[in-house]
Amino acid sequence: MPVSVGTPAGPMPTTCGYCSPSGTRSITKSAAHAAGLSANQLSCEVYQKMIDRGWRRSGTWCYKPKLEASCCPSYTIKLDAENFKPSKSQRKLIHRWNRFICKDSESKPPPSTSKHMPFSLSNDIHAAEVGFCSNERPEHRFETILEPSSYSPEKFELYCKYQRDIHNDLKNTSSGFKRFLVDSPLLPAPIPYSSPPRPHLPTNYGSYHQLYKCDGKLIALGVIDILPSCVSSVYFMYDPEWEKFSLGKLSALREVSLASEIKASGAPGMTSLYMGFFIYSCPKMRYKGDYSPSYLVDPETYEWFPLESCIPLLEKYRYACFSRPDHSTVEPVDHDTLALPMDDPPDNLLSKVFLVRGIENNRITVIPVNESPYWDDDDIRRDVVGCISGLGEELATEIIFYLDG
Ligand SMILES: [Zn+2]
Repeated sequence: MPVSVGTPAGPMPTTCGYCSPSGTRSITKSAAHAAGLSANQLSCEVYQKMIDRGWRRSGTWCYKPKLEASCCPSYTIKLDAENFKPSKSQRKLIHRWNRFICKDSESKPPPSTSKHMPFSLSNDIHAAEVGFCSNERPEHRFETILEPSSYSPEKFELYCKYQRDIHNDLKNTSSGFKRFLVDSPLLPAPIPYSSPPRPHLPTNYGSYHQLYKCDGKLIALGVIDILPSCVSSVYFMYDPEWEKFSLGKLSALREVSLASEIKASGAPGMTSLYMGFFIYSCPKMRYKGDYSPSYLVDPETYEWFPLESCIPLLEKYRYACFSRPDHSTVEPVDHDTLALPMDDPPDNLLSKVFLVRGIENNRITVIPVNESPYWDDDDIRRDVVGCISGLGEELATEIIFYLDG
């Protein structure tokens, strides 16, 4: 079992990237994280459990938003890949793209058969692609490549163009791009397929870049994690010149198909596509609810609730608790509460939470966190206690904390 290691962080105010005018993001004190973990390395199993408790990652920085204290609460959303039925408009997008790539009349099946040809997501999403396309002379060469996340100047150039034209963000550096979208703490591990998978499917869990190339040019890039129970979308960027094809929506359809193709090859745990956070208060982010059936994780019990059953509460409250609707609130809690002292977890838990004491000859020695000299430092104890509470009892004992003070 690979070891997961990271530096813990406690509750903190943060920026909200959803309601501030673009280009003027400032610390508004209107959003907050309940906990953070600057991860050195994480097993994919551990990270799967983290995102099931509302965590997310940006590079190697993992964080769990504090929904009660955020102006725009962000709920973890998952789409059931096996039972996903694309809507008529989603099917249309795929057909429009395939027609654009193939163009010539040969690629169109005769009208008599096309009417009766049942739509199959896993067939139609690949239909125009190199390696799948039955048309020998398509108008364009469309290629997708799934590769472990890595840096290239071409990817960085696409990122700058996307950030500039879509997010009005001019200050991009290659080191920032690497930190945010290339670096990952996830340790690759083999996917236990029951039979050899088709060549376009990944063999390992881990962090990937999905490249979309048209006529040899990189036109879009998806950053995704492939985990034991899900494909998790981290980020998506596209060349603004291709905006009319809704590549972001096409990428979500490709990613949900990827999850079901992995499952169909005999990895039974793979059930879902995680589309990141669902932010009801931000109309631009509501499109994630257009994929069905989707579920939101409860912010207090971490059980999954069907999205439709959550909407009435989200309409009524800013912070909605689906398991205990009476916990829902309209006003964000005061940010001063972030600084309140926190109760120490019980000793029997603390004795199972470990801290790196030293690394020598490739061996790590550890010590229970409450026996370490660091435990007497109020600031460090606050970070450790906050992180334990954000991780929950089980996960807190599966991650070794590292303090490099
Ligand atoms: Zn906000």
